[in-house]
Amino acid sequence: MALTSRTPGYRHALANEDSRPDFAKNFEKNKPDFVTSVDYATDEILEKLKNKLGYVPPDGAWAKSLPLELNLTGAGSRTRIFLLPQAFSEKYKMAPKNRKEDIGMAVSNVISSHEFSHAEHYFEGFEDYPHNRFIDNDGNLNQRVFGAADELLAHKAEYDGLKSQKKKSRTSFFDLYLSSISQQASRYYSWLFEEKFVSGLDPKFVDSLRENLDPKLLFR
Ligand SMILES: [Zn+2]
Repeated sequence: MALTSRTPGYRHALANEDSRPDFAKNFEKNKPDFVTSVDYATDEILEKLKNKLGYVPPDGAWAKSLPLELNLTGAGSRTRIFLLPQAFSEKYKMAPKNRKEDIGMAVSNVISSHEFSHAEHYFEGFEDYPHNRFIDNDGNLNQRVFGAADELLAHKAEYDGLKSQKKKSRTSFFDLYLSSISQQASRYYSWLFEEKFVSGLDPKFVDSLRENLDPKLLFR
């Protein structure tokens, strides 16, 4: 899903914590039906996520998609999305105005490309990989390999989304950020080569994932 304009509101939300819930809610205007909500993760929400699900945002994460159906089988679940406080880090507050605008576009793109892509996978599965291919010999969903494909394709959606807006950027932030996307994604790609993660799946299917989800192909 493409963004229609620069991102009015990010700089305001960066400076004013009170406006962040509205900034997050604004993404609901363009959300697909299988996304139920986009909310700012206030301290209260973060506390609940930690207590109920054991979720603590990893360093630097800007957003989190949570499927409503926690027993994920690869399709049919709608998703809640949370915009995390780290998207408004203190270090971004010190950036010059143009750089803040660029960071704001990257933050918006994380929601409308990366997180919406996760939500699509949880609801519709993968376009090219039926979810039964991720079921192992014991009849269980291979969470690792499903997760690797899920993240690699979400990173690709994010990469393509940001790249398509590159002419709007005014600083070097996009270049740095685009190369960081492919670096982050490489970690997930490496899971496809771990014998303990792929065992129990059809080796031909694993080979096709290795071939088609290679970061060298995805991010260019
Ligand atoms: Zn992700």
